[in-house]
Amino acid sequence: MTTHQEPLSSVLETIGETPLVRVHDSPDEVPVYAKLESFNPGASIKDRIGKYMLERMLERGDMGEGGTVVEPTAGNTGIGLAVAAKQLGLNAVFVVPERFSVEKQQLMRALGAEVVNTPSEDGMGFAIDRAHEIADELDDAVVPQQFSNPLNAEAHYATTGPEIGDALDGKVGAVVAGCGTAGTLMGMARYFREKHPGTHVVAVEPAGSAYREFLGEDVDHEEYKTEGIGTHDVSRNELFDPELVDDIHAVPDREVHEEMGRLAAEEGQLVASSAAANAIAAKRVARGIRDGEIDAPYEAVATVFPDSSERYLSKGVYRSFEEWEG
Ligand code: PMP
Repeated sequence: MTTHQEPLSSVLETIGETPLVRVHDSPDEVPVYAKLESFNPGASIKDRIGKYMLERMLERGDMGEGGTVVEPTAGNTGIGLAVAAKQLGLNAVFVVPERFSVEKQQLMRALGAEVVNTPSEDGMGFAIDRAHEIADELDDAVVPQQFSNPLNAEAHYATTGPEIGDALDGKVGAVVAGCGTAGTLMGMARYFREKHPGTHVVAVEPAGSAYREFLGEDVDHEEYKTEGIGTHDVSRNELFDPELVDDIHAVPDREVHEEMGRLAAEEGQLVASSAAANAIAAKRVARGIRDGEIDAPYEAVATVFPDSSERYLSKGVYRSFEEWEG
């Protein structure tokens, strides 16, 4: 475990062991704690899977040194993979739908990766197909495919879960996390359900996203501004296991926008929209436990703040709701 108190030989050693901080606007009886993932070197939770997936894939010979990783990504995964790829002697190509933040695309390029844009209206599914086409054309190229690669969830089972468990003496009553690939939530859920089978698990998505179809609900698909979580095609979300989830909260963009502002102004937390969605849902779960509406083995709720709002300033996250481009 890194203590950050002695010289380290590589930026890869600074990944993980992020701070766990109380969300003040949560009940004293059932506090919410959030992992501040912008403390990672690529400034998001996705550094964890970048390092973990590439190290495991190199170990088992999926590709050799000098090989190429090609990944469809909304951005943070690209940054996380790019940080790790270079240090591990790999090349990186990312396929990114145009609508995702330009800051992220600039950072991927700065880290030495190639970025290929796809039309926003064609969605993430198209970007996934395009990544496979590009990999087929190259020698020794692999698509880690965070949407279906079990190593994604395993990274959180091996790092995020135990770190939270250690910090809270194992007394975690509920875990709450927004689902993009669902790797974060699945890894944490597996870890804590093994510790205590009664751990309450809640997935979070933006209103308009379709994760609730996994629970048999009819969902009106709509666009949303909250970035990094949600789906419009559940057949692509192969990691999501409904058996591990007690509930799915859909959070409207308007509430997310207000909570982003509140977290900054009141709690000094410069976190982005998916973190705000997590905070809203986690606080709701904490109140539910306090009021006896939700059964949970312990009186604390854990969530993650996946990245920083600085990454989205160009999209007007702190301007009015209408000016926020999402
Ligand atoms: N928030 C942000 C900002 C993200 O980039 C992502 C990853 N798409 C998530 C949350 C969701 O994480 P996961 O893919 O592990 O579900």
